[in-house]
Amino acid sequence: MTTQQLSTQTIHIGVGKDSATGAISYPIYPSATYRHPAVGQSTGFDYTRSGNPTRNTLEAGLANLEGGARALTFASGMAALTTLFLHFKSGDHVIASQDIYGGTYRLLSMVLNNLGISATYVDTTDASAVSAAITPATRALLVETPGNPLMGISDLEALGKICQQHQILFLVDNTFMTPLLQKPFAFGADVVIHSGTKYLGGHNDLCSGVLVARTAEMGERLYFLQNSTGAILPPQDSWLLLRSLKTLHLRMERHCHNALQVAQWLQQHPNVQTVYYPGLASHPGHTLARRQASDFGGMLSFRVKDKNIAHNTLARLQLISFAESLGGVESLMTLPAIQTHGDIPEPERLRLGIDECLLRLSVGVEDVRDIIADLKQALNQ
Ligand code: PLP
Repeated sequence: MTTQQLSTQTIHIGVGKDSATGAISYPIYPSATYRHPAVGQSTGFDYTRSGNPTRNTLEAGLANLEGGARALTFASGMAALTTLFLHFKSGDHVIASQDIYGGTYRLLSMVLNNLGISATYVDTTDASAVSAAITPATRALLVETPGNPLMGISDLEALGKICQQHQILFLVDNTFMTPLLQKPFAFGADVVIHSGTKYLGGHNDLCSGVLVARTAEMGERLYFLQNSTGAILPPQDSWLLLRSLKTLHLRMERHCHNALQVAQWLQQHPNVQTVYYPGLASHPGHTLARRQASDFGGMLSFRVKDKNIAHNTLARLQLISFAESLGGVESLMTLPAIQTHGDIPEPERLRLGIDECLLRLSVGVEDVRDIIADLKQALNQ
């Protein structure tokens, strides 16, 4: 385990580690298979689904960044989550945050339910609601904090203790925060999940997913599942993710700085009713977010006064793109009710407050004056 600062680690993953060449930029090894020196011998690489030098180098770096024993990278965040859930079997029960990515909800409620794995969604910002949902069949708690899209903050320390007490796995999707801002293993997480498509990749040009296991045993189990099911991150994309990580610390600083400015500006706009950003002192999770993370991230949501204002805002955007996804250098705005969370049944969505007045903004790293100018011309209707 290295003692270097995280920002230094992100830059140096794989640097000079290719023993054949000493390359500063770790090479892409596209080979699907590898020559055996002799019967019963291996170079350490046999077949790329099972192991690839570029992917392995990336995974070792990600494990260090999160502080886990082992990381595995996948073709997308959903591929990572699917593989993780194959750890469970028919009859098992999972508790998940109700303020969760819609694709995770879809996987649990429309795919894994058919395999006999059931899920209950609770407000994980209320630790007592989690305790109350635990049954003898419960095997895991999956938390996203901040929540998606309403940015609720769940108490990782309290939830970690509940999981430990009930001997259930504590799974934390750290996509919104990245290992630079929040370290779930410090609060007892067993597995940390990322959609690497978001901040880790950071340029809206790559789909990827990550699982990091706290223990070597869990890492081995997840590796077995990945090798058995095959949703690996290809070598070219592994290299691109390695390359992207080098600027993660710079990007995160700017995302956080810009998001706070934008949240404060939105708060005073007459067409905006509520701004959901944990960095605002008015956010109910502000103190907790400050305690368990080093900054508040680049994601925020806001509610406008009516549906037409929301639709017109999306139509009028010029710099910011009306597009799904988040975490890239370019600012993106989404309408969660019909995009990212469209598969959550309408009554449940409305109960959570995900209606067509709610807009989600992934604040990019452009000059914040330009982002605010675009919001101003789009919202001044
Ligand atoms: N987890 C979170 C928090 C997400 O926002 C997303 C996608 O938006 C995913 C997981 C799924 O990742 P991917 O889109 O890379 O499959």
